[in-house]
Order: sequence, then structure tokens, then C-alpha cells
Amino acid sequence: KVNELYCQGCGITIQSEYEDQPGYVPTSALNKEQVICKRCFRLKHYNEVQDVSFTDDDFLKMISQIRNTKGLIIKLVDLFDFNGSFITSLQRLTGENQILLVGNKVDLLPKSTNKNKLKNWMKQASKELGLTIQDVFLISATKGIGMEALQAAIEDFREGKDVYVVGSTNVGKSTFINRLISTSTGIEDAITTSYFPGTTLGFIDIPLDKKASLYDTPGVINRHQMVHYMSEKDLKIITPKKEIKPRVYQLNENQTLFVGGMARFDFEKGERQSFVCYFANELPIHRTKLENATDLYERHVGEMLSPPNEATLEMLPPLESKTIRIKEGKTDIVFPGLGWITVTDGDITITVHSPKGVPISVRNSFI
Ligand code: GDP
Repeated sequence: KVNELYCQGCGITIQSEYEDQPGYVPTSALNKEQVICKRCFRLKHYNEVQDVSFTDDDFLKMISQIRNTKGLIIKLVDLFDFNGSFITSLQRLTGENQILLVGNKVDLLPKSTNKNKLKNWMKQASKELGLTIQDVFLISATKGIGMEALQAAIEDFREGKDVYVVGSTNVGKSTFINRLISTSTGIEDAITTSYFPGTTLGFIDIPLDKKASLYDTPGVINRHQMVHYMSEKDLKIITPKKEIKPRVYQLNENQTLFVGGMARFDFEKGERQSFVCYFANELPIHRTKLENATDLYERHVGEMLSPPNEATLEMLPPLESKTIRIKEGKTDIVFPGLGWITVTDGDITITVHSPKGVPISVRNSFI
């Protein structure tokens, strides 16, 4: 019987019976000093996300235990994939507990970003998604930006209580927690090592003071995230590594932009104007005539229009289109996980295409 073991990566109960189930560790690996489940092992060594049949429910059930406790919730989102990384059922899962919303990866946003507008937009968007939050913070977990203000707020809001960090996979939760720990204790890379034991809640428990702890909860897999539809190599190309340089295209109506082979933007109707593209600097953008676009895509996706490449093409669901009319004001068309295109002037009609299952959203521009 191995029930008393917990994964050092995600905190789930370890089992050795069912390889395709959560928490699996082969018997031969049970005696290791650091036991991590197959999913975390693969995540750590190969950066693979979906190898076992964790249902979204398994995660949500674990997180819903927070409802019966008293604590402060830190909800991390990826500023580059706000909707994709938002856990919409969170309010139901966390009950009456207060929530601080933290937007991570602020280091990637262009300098011209209006931070206040961005925060206001995040507040508004959370409200629309049914979540009541106390405050919003912008941070970079890798660069350490915004951490002091956030740490001070955590101390303020928690009033001696526990802290739960929640977020979907890839938002930077591990990086964030490791940074919190290293600034307060000097221990580096704490949660990928075995300093902190899993608890009965199934969460990684990091002591804050004599009475309270900070809990790392399992990363929720959100199926609307682009990461689930591409290879690791492609993911590297679409993920911005440093501050995004906006790329501006002057388009006439009936012109199309392709973002690699992952997204397509058709300017159908409106005055000639500029469109500002915010994507990883390495991600190629192609311009073409609308009338040639479908044919071009069919012939060149996987080579000229890449990523995906020829080998990873089959992972990508077919593109689905949506026609949008924008009446006025600067508007961002957001391609989850990739970036966005800012429409600088209304009244125009566009058709946007993204992989089925990764829905495009529209917001007021914060730049
Ligand atoms: P987790 O799955 O939520 O635990 O995410 P990780 O901590 O493993 O981070 C996911 C990816 O995002 C990694 O490639 C990190 O290097 C990257 N990342 C995390 N925080 C930041 C940040 O503040 N800025 C940038 N540019 N990348 C980050």
C-alpha cells in the first residue's frame, strides 16, 4: 500500500496500479527520495502536458476543498492568454474566500502598455466571467517585477490565514512560488525539490509562519489553451521570450494576414488603415489577398505558414472562422496563447480564424 505518498510536483496521492490514471509512479521508482507522478515527471523532463487521463473534474474537485477552509486565494493568469488561463468556475470552488488576481509575464508586454487600463480591463473581464476579486496585480515571476507590492498585499489580505495559489498549467505558478520562497527563505527552486511535503489536501504545503501555510494547488488543465494543440518545439516559437515589438501592417479591405499557420485575419470591409500585431517576434506574419487566402493556406500550411510544421500539422485542429463588426474605438482581437491584433479605427468588418476549440475574443485596447 502506498496511499501515504504524495507527488512532490503536484501533491496528488501516488498510486502504482493504473498507468493511465493520475498519480501513477512505477513501483521501481517508489523508493526514490523525491517521488513525482508520471504527469509531473513528463512535464518536468519533456515539458509535455497531457499524458494521463486527468479529467478537469479531478483537478476541480481537489481545488473545491478550498471552499471549506479559510484562506486568501492568489489566482494567477497568463497575461498573454487571459481567457485561456482563466478558471471560470473558481468562485464556486473557493466559496467566500477573498481573491487577489495576479497577471503574470508582464515583462513581455510592450513598453507602451497602459498598466492601469490593463488592470481595469482585468477587473472588468473577471466580473464578466463571474469572479469577484479584491485587487489586481501585474508581475513577472521570472524577472521579479511587481513582487514586492504583491507580497505586501498578500500579508495585508491574508490576516494570518493560509494562502492558496491557483492557476491553470503554464501560467508560471511554479516560477512564482519558487520566487516567493527564495525571497523569503533564500531556498532556490524549492518546489521542484523535496523540501515541502504534500498534505492531506493534496496540495504542496509551504509554511508561512507558525500557524499558516502557502499551498500550491495542482495546475488546472484548461482545454481552451493553445498549448494542448501543438508540439513543444512549436510552443517555443509562439511563446514570446522578451518584450514584444509591435509590427504594423497597412491593409486595404480584402487583404489577409496569416500568423504562422495558427491564425488568420481577413480585413473584409472598411477604409485603408493600420493594424498592429502583437505576437512573439520570431512568429512569421504573411500578408496576402483575401481571394487567394484559402488556397494559399491549403497549399502552404506547415511550410511557408509555420508553425505548425509538416510533422506537427496533424495536432492542429482545423481553423474555424468568426465574422466581427467593430463599430468604434481601438480594439484588440485576441488569439489565445498567440497574441493579438489591434484595430486602430472603427467601423470595419473582419473575419478571424483560429483552431477549433481555441476561441478568439475581443476587448478594448489597453495600449
Ligand atoms: P506552471 O505550469 O504554471 O507551473 O508554469 P511554469 O512556472 O513552469 O512556467 C511556464 C512557462 O512560463 C515557463 O516557460 C516559464 O519560463 C514561463 N514564465 C513563467 N513566469 C514568467 C514570466 O514572468 N515572464 C516570462 N516571460 N515567462 C515566464
